[in-house]
Amino acid sequence: MAKKILKASLVVIIFSFILRAQISNISTAATTDFSNFDFKEYLSKPRLALTFDDGPHPVYTNAILKILEQEGAKATFFVVGKQVKIFPELLLEIAHSGNEIGNHTYHHYNLAQLDAGQVNYEIKTNEELIQRITGLTPRYFRPPGGHYNYNVVEVARENGEDMALWSIHTNDTARPTSEYICRRVLQNVEDRSVILLHSGVPQTLAALPGLIRELKKKGFRLVTLSELDKGGESS
Ligand SMILES: [Zn+2]
Repeated sequence: MAKKILKASLVVIIFSFILRAQISNISTAATTDFSNFDFKEYLSKPRLALTFDDGPHPVYTNAILKILEQEGAKATFFVVGKQVKIFPELLLEIAHSGNEIGNHTYHHYNLAQLDAGQVNYEIKTNEELIQRITGLTPRYFRPPGGHYNYNVVEVARENGEDMALWSIHTNDTARPTSEYICRRVLQNVEDRSVILLHSGVPQTLAALPGLIRELKKKGFRLVTLSELDKGGESS
């Protein structure tokens, strides 16, 4: 009997010893990884902003969010008010994911053809809708099609929003191949590039995982527009 108890105790002791060794290995590994992480080097990497216009889209918005999360990237979504009204839950998904929401007007009209009052309606109505649903105020505004004039710039400023265009146009709404979209970005990308993409294009969605990986391989951090504007002091 005494022998059996001794044997059982020995097993327990050995088992707890192994368990403790494993736990200490895990925590040592985690600590080592963390302490070796070079924040300075990370923050000094070149940055770029992916932007997705014209959503929220009933299928593509969630798919884009999922890819961004899987690939460890952030982006900015320029949303259209009439779409937001139909899919408010998708706007919330964007907000909760830590990606940024930008104002792309209520109707997606060519603002250069509207008077100041109509431009104000387009910007303000969407801004208020975004605020009501998410509690967030968009910091950036993008005129549909990139069409703007003095009125548009002034009204956006009066609404406290900065106009944000882009530096790389992928022409993705013309539905080129995914390879074309990737090539267009990879051949033109530089530090602080702002890349124009759209939410409802299958070729853009297909291009996205590979494109993000290639951009990361080139050393880029993929951040929101607000983070791009911060000057690199934060991730
Ligand atoms: Zn648009």
